[in-house]
Amino acid sequence: MSVALITGGTRGIGKEIALKLSREGFNIAINYRRESDELKCLKEEIENSNVKCLFVQGDVSSFEDCERFVKKTVDELGQIDVLVNNAGITRDMLLMRMKKDDFEQVIDTNLVGTFNVTKNVISYMMKARKGNIVNISSVVGISGNAGQTNYSASKAGIIGFTKSLAKEVASRNIRVNAVAPGFIETSMTDVLKDEVKEEISKNIPLKRMGKAEDVANVVKFLVSEESSYITGQVINVDGGMLM
Ligand code: NDP
Repeated sequence: MSVALITGGTRGIGKEIALKLSREGFNIAINYRRESDELKCLKEEIENSNVKCLFVQGDVSSFEDCERFVKKTVDELGQIDVLVNNAGITRDMLLMRMKKDDFEQVIDTNLVGTFNVTKNVISYMMKARKGNIVNISSVVGISGNAGQTNYSASKAGIIGFTKSLAKEVASRNIRVNAVAPGFIETSMTDVLKDEVKEEISKNIPLKRMGKAEDVANVVKFLVSEESSYITGQVINVDGGMLM
């Protein structure tokens, strides 16, 4: 049975990806940072699909944590066929007021975190001569967004990382793609005021914010055989925001 490791997979988009891939028959390893009451329910929900569910604790911004939880995944589930680098944070602020720490924390989690996990997983995929990596970027990594210099830089970095790695490992039958969501309803966007959300929705051609499942559907496609000739690509899931 194939194994998928999803970082930051206990809520939001990551949780939806974990559930979606469990229904596709993957054994699931979910990386999480903070303990939460939801872990037990999520484990039960995933195991309802008759697959294994392993939780691996670790902060993706720590290389040592990633080394440990990737090894634990392989030790307990035998391999890693699919990696979804989903863990991410925002610390929004205009550059004039942004603290160095706010910049560094976002880069360290989103971009360095993607490096840390991928670096530890890739040797297993190289040995197996197969693998599939999906990195969760953002449309603001392409368009930029006022108040998000840190976040946009991290997400643009993920796109460069994705394309470069795709070129490095294609000959080993490993595909690497990115998904760039627009505004998706999760706790990350819950902090926005209702008026702001309405204004955003008005300006989206499909006239609504996206759902975590909209992103999970594309990840499902990218890790399936149906996308076997696609690598190094960025797929926007944004209701037409960016065209
Ligand atoms: P949420 O805030 O709902 O979830 C983020 C997840 O990442 C949480 O499970 C969180 O765990 C985890 N996480 C954060 N920091 C770390 C860390 N250092 N180590 C391990 N796990 C960590 O966000 P979304 O589900 O909305 O976002 C998922 C991804 O999608 C992110 O990369 C985000 O940037 C991207 N995205 C989201 C958009 C949106 O509109 N929602 C738009 C574009 C991109 P914990 O609870 O322990 O902090």
